[in-house]
Amino acid sequence: MSEPILPATVCQRWLGATQPSLFAKGRRGRRALTVPAWDGDESAAELPAACRRAEPADLPDLSEPEVMRHFTLLSNLNHHLERGMYPLGSCTMKFNPRLNEQVAALPGFAALHPAQDVEDMQGLLAALKLLEDDLCEITGFAACSLLPSAGAQGEYLGMLVIRAFHVANGDQDRDEILIPDSAHGTNPASVVLAGMRPRTIKSRADGRIDLAALRAACGSRTAGIMITNPNTLGLFEVDIVEVARIVHEAGGRLYMDGANLNAILGRARPGDMGFDVTHLNLHKTFSTPHGGGGPGAGPICVTAELEPFLPGPRIVEDDGQYDFDRLPAGDDTAIHAWYGNVGVCLRALAYILRNGGDGLKRISGMAVLNANYLLARVKPLLPVDHAVGCLHEFVASGSAWKEQHGVRTLDIAKRLLDFGVHAPTIYFPLIVEEAVMVEPTESEPRESLDHFVSALEQIRREAETRPELLHNAPHATPVGRLDEARAARQLDLRWNGPCGC
Ligand SMILES: *Cc1c(COP(=O)(O)O)cnc(C)c1O
Repeated sequence: MSEPILPATVCQRWLGATQPSLFAKGRRGRRALTVPAWDGDESAAELPAACRRAEPADLPDLSEPEVMRHFTLLSNLNHHLERGMYPLGSCTMKFNPRLNEQVAALPGFAALHPAQDVEDMQGLLAALKLLEDDLCEITGFAACSLLPSAGAQGEYLGMLVIRAFHVANGDQDRDEILIPDSAHGTNPASVVLAGMRPRTIKSRADGRIDLAALRAACGSRTAGIMITNPNTLGLFEVDIVEVARIVHEAGGRLYMDGANLNAILGRARPGDMGFDVTHLNLHKTFSTPHGGGGPGAGPICVTAELEPFLPGPRIVEDDGQYDFDRLPAGDDTAIHAWYGNVGVCLRALAYILRNGGDGLKRISGMAVLNANYLLARVKPLLPVDHAVGCLHEFVASGSAWKEQHGVRTLDIAKRLLDFGVHAPTIYFPLIVEEAVMVEPTESEPRESLDHFVSALEQIRREAETRPELLHNAPHATPVGRLDEARAARQLDLRWNGPCGC
C-alpha cells in the first residue's frame, strides 16, 4: 500500500488529538438523512440486478453534525479565503459573496437541463442576455459571447475571431500577433493554437510597451496585438491610444487580455481605449471562486465590426421571447457544449447587480488603494523596480535576499504559509528576477495587509539569522515542503491513510 498522504501524527495535530477517522467514528444506526418510504409500485423501485452490489459497501453510519464537522476540519487542511489572505498576483482571489451562491442555486436556474425546451428556460436566457449586455456596458463593446470556459479559452476564441475577420477580408497572410514580453504565458499559447504566430516586442525600462519597437514590428503580416492592460507589472499602458492608432493603421486588430480588469472596473473601458476584442475572467474580477482548475468563465466582448465572427449558439431576443441562434451543423468554431458555464455566469450577474455601477467603481478603487498601501509598506523590505503608478498589484524582487542571505523567493513564499497567508505568485512575470507578485484585492481590511507586512518583517529577520528555517518552510501546515511537480502530476485524492484524512 502506498504511504498515507498525511502521517497520522500531523493529521491528528490538525484534526485535533481526539478526532478518530471518519471511518472509525461511525455507530450503527446513526443517520444524517432519512429517505422517505417509496409508496409506488415495489418492482419499479428495484435497481436491475446487474447494478446492485452483492454486499453493502462498508461505510460508516454518521449523524449530520459529525459529517459537517468532518468536512469543516478537512477544509481547514487547505488554505482558502475563508481562512486568510490570498494575495496571489494576477489571480484576483477575492471574496465570493454568498448571495451569488444563492442566486446560482435557485431551482429555476439550477434544476434546468440544457436540452430542455427553450420555452422552459426563458428566465435563464433573460438573465444571461442581461449579463451579456452588462459586460458590453462595462467593457465598451457591442456584442458578447459567454461561451468560453476560462480566460485562456476566451483568448483562443478572440484569436479565432480576429483570424476569421482577416480571412473574410482576403487577408490570409495576416498571421502575426504582437505580444509584449510582459504578457501572461497563456497569450502566446492561444495565438499558436489559433494557427497564428506570436511575435514578442520588448518592454521599455519603465515596464510599458516600447512604441518604437511596436512601429518596427508592424507590417503587412500583422494580424493584431495582444495586450494585458494593466499589464502583469500592475502598470497601465499610458500610451494605449497611440498603440491602437499604430496597430489599426497597419491593418491589425487589438486584443485586450482583460483578466486584470479589477484595476479599472467602472473607470476605464477597453472599447474606449481602441481595443477590438477583450476577454473577462468572471472567476477573477466578478468573484466566482476559483483554483484547482475551475469551473470558470472567460466571455469575450467585441466591436460591431467583429460581431459577425462570433460563434454560435448566441442568445437572441424578439419582443421579450428568447431563443438560441444555433450553430450551423459542422461549424468548427464551436468551442463549448450548450451555452457556457451557466452557474459561473449567474454568480457574476448577481455580483454585478448587487454592486451596481457605483459599487463596481468602489471595488477597483479599493483594490488599487490596498495594492498601493501594501506596495508602500513592502518596498523597504523587498525592492520593487516598477513602483510608479501601480494599480491593483505589484511585483517585488527577492534578488537582494538571495545574494545577501542565500534565501530564494520560493523560501519566502513557503514561509508566508506559516503565518496563515497564501503565497503570492512567484517567478512571474519572467522579466523580474526572483519575482514576488502581490495582489491583495479589495476584500482585505487594513489589518490583514499589516499582518502580511509584519510576517515579511519577521521573515527578513529569520533570513538574516536562521536562513535554514526558511529553506525548510513551511512548518505549521499539514504537509511540509512538497515536490511540487510530483504533487501536481501524481495527484492522489483517495482516502488511503490510517488517519482517514
Ligand atoms: C488568469 C489569467 C489568464 C488565464 O485565465 P484562465 O481562466 O486561468 O485561463 C490570462 N491572462 C492573465 C493576465 C491572467 O491573469
